[in-house]
Amino acid sequence: MAARSASLTIAAMNTSTPSSSGAQGAGSAAAASPASGPQSAAAHALPRIAVLATGGTIAGTAADAANTSGYQAGVVGVERLLEAVPALSSVAQIQPEQIASIDSKDMALALWTTLAQRVNALLASDDIDGVVITHGTDTLEETAYLLHLTVKSIKPVVLTAAMRPSSALSADGPLNLLNAVTVAASQAAHGQGVLVAFNNRIHSARDVVKTSTYAVDAFQSPEVGALGWVQDGRVEFQRKVVRPHTVDTEFVIGAKWPNVEIVVSYAGVSRIGVDALVAAGVRGIVVAGTGNGSIHASVQQALADAVSQGVVVVRSSRVGSGHVMRNGAASDDALGFVTAGALNPYKARVLLMLALAAGGTGPVALQKAFDKY
Ligand code: ASP
Repeated sequence: MAARSASLTIAAMNTSTPSSSGAQGAGSAAAASPASGPQSAAAHALPRIAVLATGGTIAGTAADAANTSGYQAGVVGVERLLEAVPALSSVAQIQPEQIASIDSKDMALALWTTLAQRVNALLASDDIDGVVITHGTDTLEETAYLLHLTVKSIKPVVLTAAMRPSSALSADGPLNLLNAVTVAASQAAHGQGVLVAFNNRIHSARDVVKTSTYAVDAFQSPEVGALGWVQDGRVEFQRKVVRPHTVDTEFVIGAKWPNVEIVVSYAGVSRIGVDALVAAGVRGIVVAGTGNGSIHASVQQALADAVSQGVVVVRSSRVGSGHVMRNGAASDDALGFVTAGALNPYKARVLLMLALAAGGTGPVALQKAFDKY
């Protein structure tokens, strides 16, 4: 779907905002002015944040307010999402844009290309200070990591979402959106890579994963924890991302994606899946191994055969936290495998696709990419 763009200036309201360690201009006060009216000097002083909507539960509605699981995702437009959060007017000038209206379970590679290119185009402009993306929770961590590796700007990019549809009692979307814009408007968020603001916490795109099917604290960064927090207009970072990202990667977003798929190792698994993928001509396979990336003997043999046919194999874990040790649960050097470290299988697939698209070949060079990013 083509991106629709509209300019919506939300002028500063006549309220003082709690002092912020980061939110530029959040303390500005001015008389409220209509969204379409002339911009006040204070409104001009506020950071200009593009809000790109892609759908998800945050834009979902159900027939009744008590229903938080049976609803249609991605049906509420970006203007209505913003109208539900009047307090945004004291935080930023918002430029809304509807990029897509999907349930993020249906995220597609072509839409990733569209989204990443749009984010890069917006951030290249002097008229935009940061970007917020509303997204479904299901594949949010994958999109966030993709952008973390392909956005070419130090300006903030913050993804947010909701676990409850917009029609629900105690919907979590409006506060998550306000907090995401607050983080994107914050000077402290510059250079931190792509961020996820959810349930008052700020996570790095590299670390964050969805860990609950229903709870409003669905996003966690296992092992390392959140980067910081956002509350009542205040933004605080408590640690920094150490691995290179955004402007410090060689990855650029393109229209062509190498075919990389994921297989899982489990009790009684056969090699049928791996053999079918190789026959289909995939360039890479990420295996979600048990424990520390251990692989059932039948699948491990199939993967070794795949390597001998030129397929790249990345060994990750299905466990959900911790890292996979190279030459630990499998002899990676002998088998020609790459190990994913702490990346889960879905993020490992993102990195492998980007590394292959950037011309990476062979397990030694590709392992360097996994060790670096
Ligand atoms: N299925 C929804 C989506 O990912 C779930 C959500 O947003 O919470 O779009």
